[in-house]
Amino acid sequence: MGNREIFDQVSDMEKQIGELYEQLGDLKGKLSDLLEENHRLAHENHHLRNHLDSFTEESVEKQQEKSDSKQQKGIFPGEGYDNLARLYEEGFHICSLEFGSPRRNEDCIFCLDFFDKTKL
Ligand SMILES: [Zn+2]
Repeated sequence: MGNREIFDQVSDMEKQIGELYEQLGDLKGKLSDLLEENHRLAHENHHLRNHLDSFTEESVEKQQEKSDSKQQKGIFPGEGYDNLARLYEEGFHICSLEFGSPRRNEDCIFCLDFFDKTKL
């Protein structure tokens, strides 16, 4: 191999190394974009999870409230029943649908249903 050929080969390698270095730079840029995107998504996911958790807790609480007022529709011995009967007489709903809201002087079949059931 002559000196000239060696020189050409070294020049070629230099060129290839230059190109590889450029590609490496590109990849590094893309990687940093991906890492940034990943970080942003992780952050967003974290927030959404928190949001979902509080949302789920809320709906569980509402579910419990619902089943609580369903129990009020059930048989109420003694004081509880009297209180509800008085509440109804004073013009408020005691049914699970509208519990505690004013009846506007109308009888409510759901409230009356409660009386029917407790009389049995
Ligand atoms: Zn009612």
